[in-house]
Amino acid sequence: MGATGTYFRHIKDAVVSIFDGMAVTASHLIRKPYTIQYPDRIPIRVQDTLPFRYRGILDVDLEICTGCLACDRACPIDCIAIAIEKNPQTREITISQFDIDMAKCMYCGLCSEPCPTGSIHHTTEFEGADYSLESLIRRFVPEPIVAYKPKKGPEPDADVAKLLDRGMKYVDEWAQPGSDKPPATAAPKLAPTPVSAAPKPAPAPRPVAPTAEEKKDDAPVVSGEGGETPQGGAEHK
Ligand code: SF4
Ligand code: SF4
Repeated sequence: MGATGTYFRHIKDAVVSIFDGMAVTASHLIRKPYTIQYPDRIPIRVQDTLPFRYRGILDVDLEICTGCLACDRACPIDCIAIAIEKNPQTREITISQFDIDMAKCMYCGLCSEPCPTGSIHHTTEFEGADYSLESLIRRFVPEPIVAYKPKKGPEPDADVAKLLDRGMKYVDEWAQPGSDKPPATAAPKLAPTPVSAAPKPAPAPRPVAPTAEEKKDDAPVVSGEGGETPQGGAEHK
């Protein structure tokens, strides 16, 4: 093919490719759009469509927090600052500070994994934009409170039992997410138990190994980012 033929072939290719591209564009003019106007014009909130274990903004159910500091120790970047004090007589733990710096948090989930009661957990909330870094520090303790003490039997307080149920479900799903759970048929066959009308007891929290801080019964403990240790240090900012 001579030079003239090549010239007209190029023109033909250019016209064909333009029509190909325009055909794709034109087809979108008559299709139903995939985009949605966020946050308006959606039938349900996006947060309500996310899975239970979605790693959104952290929340703490203080009513079931034992003050064990497991979450604080697990955080690799010291986002969590907890201050506790143990009464040597009653062995009661008082929590006077529980802050999470969401500006630093990388949503890794390492803090919620070892929590014995599921107290600290991620929510499906992801809208956390604010005007200052300071306002991204979530402070959960307005005034000192006594830490939760796991009961030997079922939790008598219905509200706390509800929180505990949710927390343990969260912990269980962390431990055995999705299809990793053993099939129901694998469970050993037990003799049938009489059906009772009594409400199902709340699951018992997982035991947590005592910490160095817990062994030091008398000393107040403050830990986490910028926290103060019994040996001294800067105050949390
Ligand atoms: S999710 Fe945030 S607070 Fe929890 S361990 Fe990870 S970085 Fe720390
Ligand atoms: S791990 Fe759970 S129970 Fe322990 S201090 Fe953290 S939130 Fe409280």
